[in-house]
Amino acid sequence: MDLMRNLLLAGSRSAWLQRQATRRKFVKLAVRRFMPGETVDDALVAAEKQNKAGLLVTLTHLGENLSDKSEADAVLAHYLETLKRMKAANVQGEVSIKPTQLGLDIDPELCLRHTRTLAEAAREHGSRLWIDMEGSAYTDATLKLFRAVRETHSNLGVCLQAYLRRTRDDLESLIPLGPGIRIVKGAYAEPASIAFPDKAEVDANFLWMAKRLWKTDAKVAKAWATLGTHDAVLIPQLEQAAKEAGLTTDMYEYAMLYGIQRGEQLRLAKAGRQVRVLISYGTHWFPWYMRRLAERPANLSFVFKSMFAK
Ligand SMILES: Cc1cc2nc3c(=O)[nH]c(=O)nc-3n(C[C@H](O)[C@H](O)[C@H](O)COP(=O)(O)OP(=O)(O)OC[C@H]3O[C@@H](n4cnc5c(N)ncnc54)[C@H](O)[C@@H]3O)c2cc1C
Repeated sequence: MDLMRNLLLAGSRSAWLQRQATRRKFVKLAVRRFMPGETVDDALVAAEKQNKAGLLVTLTHLGENLSDKSEADAVLAHYLETLKRMKAANVQGEVSIKPTQLGLDIDPELCLRHTRTLAEAAREHGSRLWIDMEGSAYTDATLKLFRAVRETHSNLGVCLQAYLRRTRDDLESLIPLGPGIRIVKGAYAEPASIAFPDKAEVDANFLWMAKRLWKTDAKVAKAWATLGTHDAVLIPQLEQAAKEAGLTTDMYEYAMLYGIQRGEQLRLAKAGRQVRVLISYGTHWFPWYMRRLAERPANLSFVFKSMFAK
């Protein structure tokens, strides 16, 4: 299974595979399981449906590792427009960005300006701006970006990955800032020297992080935990930890990906938990889709099935 995961993650960086996959209709069909469509209109329609079902949303426009300033400017303009459209359509949701999609590889100052502009737009919109965490080559730069924008904007959250050995220290150092933290396990190919190779260790770290965010000093600092997981074994442990920390259900939330564990999303919402569905959309879906396949190689069966779909 690890071999398949590593192959899929290596494939996510292959330009050749990307060209092949994005040309094939059956791959596009398989992608639709995790993505309502390529346009913001598709995302907004899906968002309204989630809201009607009692779930909140996070919208994210797919794309990463841009190399041209004008593309990063276009991403900024896209998100500003999206926030306006969410407000106009009364969509209950937030947006989440990737630093390399806002120009981190081109010019960190440009990325900082764009992220701050978006944090301000999100503040006016009455929501939090989330910063995704990419591969470990970007962890330091992403945390630096978070800290810089956090100086002016408290409506900011950053994703931390439980699989990284460094994450406990990162979390500890962020707590005095009262951060919004989206805890996830981590989706990239990382060596064992920096990331726990065993699922049990990653899961234990995830739980530790939630508990840490629910200690008194973190609560006083107004830290916030978004639990980004579909793990039906981990979720009851998180529930137990929340109970032990004396949390009410409005003091934390779950976040899951569109199309994954729908039953669990609805079950938690019905049980009064705040649940957020992360809706990804856009034409640059290839590396993101490969990461979804790597999380559960059994998902490849959808690709094969759609090959033969009429
Ligand atoms: C809201 C949200 C935001 C995220 N943001 C980031 C980010 O910024 N950076 C980052 O590195 N990662 C991010 N991720 C991905 C995350 O790191 C994991 O790769 C992903 O969530 C799978 O881990 P899991 O906690 O669901 O547990 P796992 O142990 O991987 O899975 C538990 C169970 O969930 C189901 N499941 C999980 N993944 C899939 C899938 N792809 N298809 C079908 N079923 C599946 C299966 O039933 C599986 O048994 C995000 C995830 C979520 C939910």
